[in-house]
Amino acid sequence: MRLASRTVVVITLLLTALTALAEEVTFRFQPPEGVEPASVTLRGSFNDWGETPMERQDDGSWSVTIELEPGAHAYKYFIDGEWPQDLSDWRGLGPLDPDADAYADDGFGGMNAVRVIAEAALPAGEARALDAAQVRHRIDDPAHRDLVDGRLVLRFEAGRDQIARATVETDIGSEPMTRQLWWGNREVWRVALGAQVTNYRFVLEGHDGSAAVIDQDGEPFTFNGQDPLLAVDWVRDQVFYQIFPDRFANGNPLNDQMPLRTDESVYNTAGTVYGGPPQLSEWSDPPGPSLCCHQYFGGDLAGVLDRLDYLTDLGVTAIYFNPIFEAGSAHGYDTHDYLRIQPHLGTEALFRQLLETAHRHGMRVILDFVPNHTGLGHWAFQDVLANGPDSDYWDWYFVRQWPFEAGDTEAYVYWASAPSLPKLNTQNPEVRAHLLEVVRYWLELGIDGWRVDVPNEVLGADTFFREMREVVKAVDPEAYILGEIWETDPSWVQGDRFDSLMNYPAGREVIVRFARGDDNPLTTPARMQSDLARIYGAYSEDVAAMSFNVMGTHDTARVLTQLGGGDFGDEPTEESLARLRLASTVLYSLPGAPVTFQGDECGLLGQQAAVGTQDLHRYPIQWEACDPDLQAHYQSLAVMRAELPALRSPVFRSFATDAQVLGFYRGEPSTTGEVLVLANNSLEERSVTLPSGSWRAVGRPGLLRGGAEVTVPALGVTLLERL
Ligand code: CA
Repeated sequence: MRLASRTVVVITLLLTALTALAEEVTFRFQPPEGVEPASVTLRGSFNDWGETPMERQDDGSWSVTIELEPGAHAYKYFIDGEWPQDLSDWRGLGPLDPDADAYADDGFGGMNAVRVIAEAALPAGEARALDAAQVRHRIDDPAHRDLVDGRLVLRFEAGRDQIARATVETDIGSEPMTRQLWWGNREVWRVALGAQVTNYRFVLEGHDGSAAVIDQDGEPFTFNGQDPLLAVDWVRDQVFYQIFPDRFANGNPLNDQMPLRTDESVYNTAGTVYGGPPQLSEWSDPPGPSLCCHQYFGGDLAGVLDRLDYLTDLGVTAIYFNPIFEAGSAHGYDTHDYLRIQPHLGTEALFRQLLETAHRHGMRVILDFVPNHTGLGHWAFQDVLANGPDSDYWDWYFVRQWPFEAGDTEAYVYWASAPSLPKLNTQNPEVRAHLLEVVRYWLELGIDGWRVDVPNEVLGADTFFREMREVVKAVDPEAYILGEIWETDPSWVQGDRFDSLMNYPAGREVIVRFARGDDNPLTTPARMQSDLARIYGAYSEDVAAMSFNVMGTHDTARVLTQLGGGDFGDEPTEESLARLRLASTVLYSLPGAPVTFQGDECGLLGQQAAVGTQDLHRYPIQWEACDPDLQAHYQSLAVMRAELPALRSPVFRSFATDAQVLGFYRGEPSTTGEVLVLANNSLEERSVTLPSGSWRAVGRPGLLRGGAEVTVPALGVTLLERL
């Protein structure tokens, strides 16, 4: 679940803006005749979609000048507090910004404008000067210093293209460093050392012949041997599958009527049930007006148990369940009792059986946890409703007026625009104690981890998630804690709260955009490569290895729809299917675990919230219509990950190429087994010159030497393994 907001298309810029190579850019908005806005602001990828005020000029136009670093920048003008849907054609009056270099899909059915700032070209034969002041080595940031697989991984950031050679000098010897990642004006250098190192400094040589030593005020950096961020090692080896239980498979028709007893409509006396009353449907009934929330199709845990062999055949090794606790909807994000299984999904005994069977299949299971709010039917909320201030649970919620009707939009605080989701007071120690008991209960029952819904919305999130981590790791140090954060935000994964975040930035904002092949400056292979580098530069390699890599979920349109396959009910084109194969292959090549939303391997289509319909990406899987070729493709991807250990390594490295491909290395740099991934999102074959060394192309015969040309098929991926 998440709030609709423009910020999802952003990959947050975490670095202090460096202005050395930035360029001054003026944005100007000329209102059409008869339009006189009271306020205009500039919102874009460069200010995290926050508001930079624009000033009204004497000629009636609005403008602002800011500094932008090289790259492509998406933006919109925010006029009188409103987002214009389409900057390329505002109200049928033409483009809002004639100075824009391009326009690009904003991910919400509209168009952003794009400005492109070219990289400053180096004069022929000259090098960029080494500026030691641009070097950053943050010793408290696991992205720069962390123990990974028993080795000390050290990284620093520097100005782009300034360093010819970097060496780390330590108390036990010197090691050359590798230029690992680059984007915009920045680059990252890396080395992995023995963990016994206690002090070190970096020695840099510039392309201009100058040199610099990076240390701490003349003294070496010191390292005390403590691991700042403990990894959950099993995650990197998994192939995850996301199950939305009401829509996966119906294994027990006898429980199909039960939602009528638990549905929100039983409790919502204000009559504000979103999408209308509950609807019990046969598996292939058409989607109704309450598809998102109250149309029940009878799927259950028995259906999952029936299909564990199917998942095993697909190469799946871990399941992420959308909510399975008692709740008032088909999606289950409105919990009524965190300690009970939703009756129409099954019983606790059945869940235990499922868990044990999954574990016997070598499969892990994580559950969805929603600590921010409950549903109207939650027992504490019902007690508050009945007893008002006399209720023992009065301080669990934020009631504004009592008595009230459940569902009343004025009576209490709720999440987003949904009065069916009363907000929990997680600053109340009793509430936290209950939620942490829930966390402990299911872990002790044997689950392998938690996915946490909207953690950024939770009151007192810092405290709560630190406490939650202590509880989780006390029961099982190997249990996985995954947060639903959509942006690149390493502050959540510093070793004290979450292990990892939903990796929409890599999966959706980079891979899907790349695979769609849009012709705009935001989606060139070079730009996509930069965006990936920025993400992997922000996180510790331990966190990268625990990534939960998603391209589409229950919260987005179907990935095949995003890739041009069409809407619900359409027949996907061969090209869109090829684009899905391209995207999924790249996804399976990234550090961490690839995640398939149920039915994506079947070629399902579904837009998220089209006018007149609801959330068609949540329609049940019609198994007989599953695309067998696509299923075979997903199987082959799991085999590929199993056979190429580098694809499960924490290390990601940029690949320099002029060819129009997305390229990156995986695995320890320049060692046997390192994999080079080359992905082509165009309709023409590409040719790439191989870097030095000996290589074999995966799935092709013969040995290739550095300097040789290797082909990457149209809409294809070529993987090369270093020999
Ligand atoms: Ca059923």
